[in-house]
Amino acid sequence: MKKTLLLLSLVAAPALAGEGKWTPQQVLELDPAWLRAQGLQVSPKKLWDPQRGTGLLAGAVNVGGCTGAFISSTGLIITNHHCAYGLIQEHSSPERDLLTTGFLASERKDELPGKGARVQVPRSFTDVTAQVLAAVPEGADDAARYKAIERKQKELVAECEKRPATRCQVATFDGGVNYTLVDSVELLDTRLVYAPPRGVGEYGGEEDNWMWPRHTGDFAIVRAYTAPDGSSAPYSEKNIPHKAEFFFPLATEGVKPGDFVMVLGYPGRTYRALLAEEMAERQSRVYPRMRDVYGEAIRILEEEGEKDAAGKIAVASVLKGLHNGYKNAGGQLAGLKRGHIVEKQRQSEAEVAAWIAKKSASAQGAATWASAVKAREELLAAQQATAKVFEREFLLGAVQRLARAPAMAVTVSRLAAERAKPDMERRPDYMEREHARIKDRLEREQKNVHLPAEKRLLTAFVRRAQALGADERIATVDKHFGKAFVEKDVAAKVDALYAGTQVLTLAERLKMATETTAQLQARKDPMLAFGLDLARELEAMDEAVDRRQGMALRLRPSWRKAVLAHAGKPVAPDANSTLRVTFAKVQGYAPRDGAVYTPQTTLSGMMAKNTGEDPFDVPERVAKVAEAKRHGAWADRKLKDVPVNFLSDADTTGGNSGSPTVNGKGQLVGVNFDRVWENVANDFGYNPEVARNVNVDVRYVLWMLDQVENADVLLKELGVRKNSPVAAEIR
Ligand code: ASP
Repeated sequence: MKKTLLLLSLVAAPALAGEGKWTPQQVLELDPAWLRAQGLQVSPKKLWDPQRGTGLLAGAVNVGGCTGAFISSTGLIITNHHCAYGLIQEHSSPERDLLTTGFLASERKDELPGKGARVQVPRSFTDVTAQVLAAVPEGADDAARYKAIERKQKELVAECEKRPATRCQVATFDGGVNYTLVDSVELLDTRLVYAPPRGVGEYGGEEDNWMWPRHTGDFAIVRAYTAPDGSSAPYSEKNIPHKAEFFFPLATEGVKPGDFVMVLGYPGRTYRALLAEEMAERQSRVYPRMRDVYGEAIRILEEEGEKDAAGKIAVASVLKGLHNGYKNAGGQLAGLKRGHIVEKQRQSEAEVAAWIAKKSASAQGAATWASAVKAREELLAAQQATAKVFEREFLLGAVQRLARAPAMAVTVSRLAAERAKPDMERRPDYMEREHARIKDRLEREQKNVHLPAEKRLLTAFVRRAQALGADERIATVDKHFGKAFVEKDVAAKVDALYAGTQVLTLAERLKMATETTAQLQARKDPMLAFGLDLARELEAMDEAVDRRQGMALRLRPSWRKAVLAHAGKPVAPDANSTLRVTFAKVQGYAPRDGAVYTPQTTLSGMMAKNTGEDPFDVPERVAKVAEAKRHGAWADRKLKDVPVNFLSDADTTGGNSGSPTVNGKGQLVGVNFDRVWENVANDFGYNPEVARNVNVDVRYVLWMLDQVENADVLLKELGVRKNSPVAAEIR
């Protein structure tokens, strides 16, 4: 990045130590003395080299919605078990159920290749704000503004991706204050090296999800491969381990309370820059509706999954995602209320407005400040107008998450409609560069289909749509199912859709993904007919959403610039799936009046909670070693036990799953995998009292590999056995 990302007073310290998902460029703008005082022992330039636009931070890689970290120069990557779930599931069958038993490749040739498992290694970040903003024609309306910005982003990406095996993205920061081009190398051959058994990787299951105390071994190890010349290549027997330039050696001594740590990764999305009223809308409408719709889907999937073993396997992955989202929505609601977050945001907006009023009085920049106030008012008015379309848009948006058949019918229909346009005019999600990913998804979905659950989910969708108000109708539902819910009529129509469709036949579905709209229509497939109509309705909705986003891109930057200027200190932008780092300390917290949580858990704690029944059921071979207190070299001196999980006050969110947690020297001390219940709503604001992320302790990883699995070869490669190649770097 050539320019500063934000309007900061240079070299300053942030307000709160743990707060902030800093961009790599911002790390260089923070006061080095402050960073040193926090505990950073390497020079910030080692983390990020501004000349090259890369550095140690780029040892954290993007693994498709999650983060992973290189832990050897030989392509080994550690991430979460829940992030490698698809890869493990791909190789699991009732006869060889790797999800349950776990997996260890005893030699390289035994490592298991993953279909469509891709890893992106950042190569450079470039500020492209001026180019993006210059692309908006004078006098453009909101729709045209959005299209012009999107077009410029596509052009920059296309230019960037001319390099082979490259994946690029133009990320928007602070609602459009800045734009950054991220250029990454994409590695296409990733193989499973180690997965713990489910009883370790998912220990505590849904009950413990988003909770502390925690005893989950949520980690897995994969390896990236390249062609023999080091270039990225799809799976081939001839491929060799990727030579990672940046990686995090394992800190075998671990961490203790009070230690400095950094968490590096790809946080997905946060909402701290929203206006208070926009936050209030998420609180009053979005999360309650999520609870309602996901809750119903969970009930259906659980009931149908219980009826037979194959059904249970088929619904497992979708169910896991829904449970995660359902509980998260509950945590957001609890946290928003408990932290009075909306009220605080209102208060801080009032402060900025008062500050602007004072500034405007003293002439300089008066017009700019006045436009910030006006921008906020316009945003508020626009937001109120969306109330009328909320229910309809929410339901249409949920189509992709619920029943698989209509979701896939929509995908192939939209693909056909978009394919009719020149590539640069297509919606970004359906451009040529996405086709391989779409195909992978359409293939993978086969594992998730369970017909009885499918039918009930579609029926539930139809019933909800038919209950919408007169000006919120979903025309496709009205057309195919009628306007009012008559149970047996809807059931008969749903049956007919499923009976007459080939969407659920893999080979046919893949063929559909290559066909034109006319070819799809000619199939006379009732599910496709429904999907084609729904796709048109979704396209119209997306046009309306684009227009609204064009408006937000016009207005929000003025308001945000005022907020940032008022702050007078570095402010980290909201998460947007780009590389960030957060500086933190290992520490516990008080979840409620009269209770204090310590920041570490142990093997003994795990065994104390082990009922022998799911989800507290560690496999026998793990339990035996734990009960015999065979700690090997991995016990903590003070705890006199092997630490399993630890807390820190790092500023994380979804997408940080699998993030390396490293010490001041840049060595891996843990792997981030969750946040605590009281901290789910930190997506709206950082609260130092309860902002805690949950990490797997590296010593638990090592204990599993060493004492339970006897994974000698792997440990040697990781530098924790004598004569290993990286041992010198660790000590
Ligand atoms: N467990 C989370 C996830 O699923 C991580 C987090 O949100 O902190 O991504």
